[in-house]
Amino acid sequence: MNYRIPFNKPHFTSREAYHVSAAISLGKISGNGVMTQKCHSFFEKKYHFRKALLTSSCTDALEMAAILCDIQPGDEVIIPSFTFVSTANAFVLRGAKIVFADSMGDHPNIDASLLESLITPRTKAIIPVHYAGIACDMDVIMQIGEKHGILVIEDAAHAIDSYYRKKALGSIGQMATFSFHETKNITSGEGGLFVVNDSRFIGRSEIIWEKGTNRAAFYRGEVDKYGWVDIGSSFLPSDLTAAFLYGQIEMLGEIQRKRKEIHSRYLSRLSGLEQQAKLSLPTCPDYATQNGHLFYILTSGLDERDQLIRYLGKNGIQAVFHYLPLHSSSFYSNRHDGRELSNADRYARTLIRLPFFYDLTENEIDEVSDLIHQFYKS
Ligand SMILES: *Cc1c(COP(=O)(O)O)cnc(C)c1O
Repeated sequence: MNYRIPFNKPHFTSREAYHVSAAISLGKISGNGVMTQKCHSFFEKKYHFRKALLTSSCTDALEMAAILCDIQPGDEVIIPSFTFVSTANAFVLRGAKIVFADSMGDHPNIDASLLESLITPRTKAIIPVHYAGIACDMDVIMQIGEKHGILVIEDAAHAIDSYYRKKALGSIGQMATFSFHETKNITSGEGGLFVVNDSRFIGRSEIIWEKGTNRAAFYRGEVDKYGWVDIGSSFLPSDLTAAFLYGQIEMLGEIQRKRKEIHSRYLSRLSGLEQQAKLSLPTCPDYATQNGHLFYILTSGLDERDQLIRYLGKNGIQAVFHYLPLHSSSFYSNRHDGRELSNADRYARTLIRLPFFYDLTENEIDEVSDLIHQFYKS
């Protein structure tokens, strides 16, 4: 189906083509080249990440995290059920047992107050996902991690340029992962970033990134030959991907300004419906910032959600629901311990994401909002 106002449309800044052709002129387009290094420095400086490594996807970055956590078969990892499949799969690939945590009552983020009750002697890591770019309660999560000797890996796929109490998301956990998939704030089509903040993991992260070899150290002249020193894979993207991403990075400030404007316009256009108790709007705790990643509304139930999505669709507008909770997925439901996760289930049934992309106009936001008002009138 062709929508007049689609859910997503990638934004190109015109800087991407410039950097891609510059990379071609340099004559070296494999991974860890000049453009990759420029991206790394940008992220490390701007967000105070200890070590940044571009990857081909956030999924790859999560797989690197799982290797660095040294997950052994039977180790447990706590993740929210309301998240993307890769958050779990990366750890399942290493033999982990996933212990799903519920979301908060007023936000899809993991409920940090539940974590202590889920920890066992086999718990190796907690993976908070900053849903919609809104920070999880990281002070609480980091304290629990420290107390029990458990690593914290931030899945910051939604969360570029967002903050928790003035600290950039992705700079708080021992490790963090970002996505530059076409649906995220800045993009290289497919792409990701792996972040290491705990220096114990830096040396090994480069080796795993480069197929289990010490090639990165070799290129810096730190060793006189390179070879196979550990397990690893090819997690690094081509320098063409990095060049493309650098074009987006140059426009990050402008992209973020515009996306935050879109978010606040939706909020103000729809606030009347929340006052009339027709729907709920996204909340942002005072420890978090809004990074304009996506805009969602919460309907009162599944039928209403489906009706509203159909109503918008008939009017040429593509609105979409989000995650199906992983604890009840066909792959994992018979491995789940049976605990009910009622908030995750509720967000799966009631959450709708509205069209959200850089080139969305004010008129289009108003049109989408007016139609939602119309829907609740009838
Ligand atoms: C998009 C997303 C991912 C995966 O990102 P890719 O770059 O497509 O691998 C992982 N986790 C979350 C929460 C996401 O939204």
